[in-house]
Amino acid sequence: MLISQMLVDRRRFLIGAAAIVGAALWPWPALGQRDNGRLILLGTGGGPRPRKTRSASAQVILINDTAYVVDCGDGVARQLVSAGVPLPRLRHIFLTHHHSDHNADYGNLILLGWTAGLRTRVDAWGPPPLEKMTKLFFEMNASDIATRIADEGRVTPPLVDVHELSKGGPVMQDENVKVTAALVHHPPVVPAFGFRFDSRDRSIVISGDTTPSDNLIKLAQGADVLVHEAFYAPGIDRLVAGVPNATSLKQSIMSHHTTAEDAGRVAQAAGVKTLVLSHLVPAEDPAVTDQMWIDAARAHFGGPIIVGKDLLEI
Ligand SMILES: [Zn+2]
Repeated sequence: MLISQMLVDRRRFLIGAAAIVGAALWPWPALGQRDNGRLILLGTGGGPRPRKTRSASAQVILINDTAYVVDCGDGVARQLVSAGVPLPRLRHIFLTHHHSDHNADYGNLILLGWTAGLRTRVDAWGPPPLEKMTKLFFEMNASDIATRIADEGRVTPPLVDVHELSKGGPVMQDENVKVTAALVHHPPVVPAFGFRFDSRDRSIVISGDTTPSDNLIKLAQGADVLVHEAFYAPGIDRLVAGVPNATSLKQSIMSHHTTAEDAGRVAQAAGVKTLVLSHLVPAEDPAVTDQMWIDAARAHFGGPIIVGKDLLEI
């Protein structure tokens, strides 16, 4: 019966909720503070292979106690906890595209958030087949969900409301933020999106994965912060050395992504205030220093450049 309750309608998925009566959220944000667009990088490495120092792509924007998560790479729930963001604050999830370094922990974020007390609705936004992925994920985990409801008294049902996106333009707006999407170019994955978040005091753009994109330049016009993916071309040969698919992997990286130099060009063309390099490839090559990343982008962008680090707040 509990499993059959999981499907509420064709787009909404009931996952149950924690009924930890009286459980209090710890103070967040700090007393007297309100958030008007805090950005925390949760995962700054490109590619799905688990690493020691950089998680896969994810970031969170915090506005007035509400968490807007963009991409759900491996470990996103843990990274949110490490960043001090209570999982019950999760309200919206945006997926730029369906590569596993951006979506592997999409369902896990909601499921584990539920075990941590998430009881309110989550809206998920991203390309098809997000609806099917959501449905199958919760079917796959129906046994655990039913067991915890029966065994731990978790009763209140939050919903996952899925919104599949197929084109650029306005995505959603609430009391905190207006979100706009642009189609970016990340073959062979179609569609792939960049997202812009305009809150009262700040505008933040997340590129997703893309080659240098005119659509993204338009989306990011005048933004306060542009988080742009980047690879460091001289480091690619070392990265692919020794893997059996080296030739294909190198070709894939070079043709579907953006060099740090071009990320600087995009930032300059968009007139953003600050450029953040993230989704770094290679992610953990000690021979590629922060200064090398900065120098590459600096050749074309005059503003502040930040080399992304996991859990860095911007
Ligand atoms: Zn990708």
